[in-house]
Amino acid sequence: MFTDYVKIIAKAGKGGNGAISFRREKYVAAGGPDGGDGGKGGDIYFEVDPNSNTLIDFRFKKKFNAESGNNGEGNNKYGRGGDDLTIKVPIGTIVKDASNNRVLADLSHEGQKELVLKGGRGGKGNSHFATSTRQAPRFSQDGENGEEKELILELKLLADVGLIGFPNVGKSTFLGRTTSATPKIADYHFTTLEPNLGVVKTDYGDSFVIADIPGIIEGASEGVGLGLQFLRHIERTRLLLHVIDVSGSEGRNPVDDFEKINSELQRYSEKLSKRTQIIVANKIDSMQDEKLCSELEKLAKQKGLEIFKISAVTGEGVLELIKHVSELLKTLPKEDLLEYDDKKVYRLEEKDDYTIRKEEGKYIIEGEPVERIMRRVNIGDNESLYYFQKSLDSLGVNKRLKEMGVREGDIVQIADYELEWED
Ligand code: GDP
Ligand code: MG
Repeated sequence: MFTDYVKIIAKAGKGGNGAISFRREKYVAAGGPDGGDGGKGGDIYFEVDPNSNTLIDFRFKKKFNAESGNNGEGNNKYGRGGDDLTIKVPIGTIVKDASNNRVLADLSHEGQKELVLKGGRGGKGNSHFATSTRQAPRFSQDGENGEEKELILELKLLADVGLIGFPNVGKSTFLGRTTSATPKIADYHFTTLEPNLGVVKTDYGDSFVIADIPGIIEGASEGVGLGLQFLRHIERTRLLLHVIDVSGSEGRNPVDDFEKINSELQRYSEKLSKRTQIIVANKIDSMQDEKLCSELEKLAKQKGLEIFKISAVTGEGVLELIKHVSELLKTLPKEDLLEYDDKKVYRLEEKDDYTIRKEEGKYIIEGEPVERIMRRVNIGDNESLYYFQKSLDSLGVNKRLKEMGVREGDIVQIADYELEWED
């Protein structure tokens, strides 16, 4: 299987900060707190794009950011949430976390859309923190950062189109021309490089994969064993372009060639021989005997096959052929091709548990809920610290620490902070 593979960096939006604000009313020196909440940062989704079948676009754009939420404002005004970002990928794309190779999303069916990176929550405005004893809270929460990850996008690539034909009929020339000759047609690089594979990108945004099939006939006629592995991939092509030299320059007979290749093909793969074929009459720029080509055209008519006359060297007829192929491919069914090692997909989940362990006299608290509180505390602000303590209390952290025997002066570590316990 050819694997198309790219790495990108994606960052969900940061949550907006909560506002610190107080009501201003006539004749009232300082009204109550009215700082609104920050908006949520935009999420990042991946969605199946039915019109794409390669990761080619990700070679040029590598960074993706969802929008941040706006900060809250006075008068209890909420910050606007950041827009989500939806990244479109071809069907069959697997999204992995580059840091641990875990599969985060498996885009395997049409219409599928998966949340992969979550935007940060907006911070609460100071209006949330007023209590009977604290009427003028001078703090608010900052918004959380959005999730940021380096992601691997992996696509098991199937060749849509296989090129068959005798040696020297112009298969490589055709592949070279259609996959790199003009700027509209992008050159492609694969990690598991198969040099006889190329991606054709048409003017109007479609793309498809062409594979040259050198082994089948050339190897066969020399009695060389086929690369079965290769054949297996090629068997899944949806369309065959049968390239035939009609120039007569090498003394070939087009009709003969057509029959020979097809009987060879049948010997090697029944399945492949039944595949839709288009006859590509090549080298029309140097025809020595018009009859050769017209006989081939007659044959095509008999067999009900389409025939395109081209010159892979001058380019005559090539665009028409490519256009036809890309339209035809839309009508031919795709095979399901998903395979990866462990089928487990790690979904986003709210982790609401935390642990406390004692290590070398230090109490280490780990877990999403406490770290979340920690990330949002403003250590330099007494009131914010007080709120932080209360939050830990409500999670039962203090109680658990006491049960574990925490004593005055002991170090308690949460996230990157080391705090000293006071009774
Ligand atoms: P392959 O063995 O089928 O891959 O054939 P190649 O692409 O290597 O081509 C064999 C030879 O035919 C090369 O010398 C090419 O330049 C030549 N050739 C390929 N296409 C054309 C064509 O359209 N017109 C002419 N005149 N020569 C061609
Ligand atoms: Mg070749």
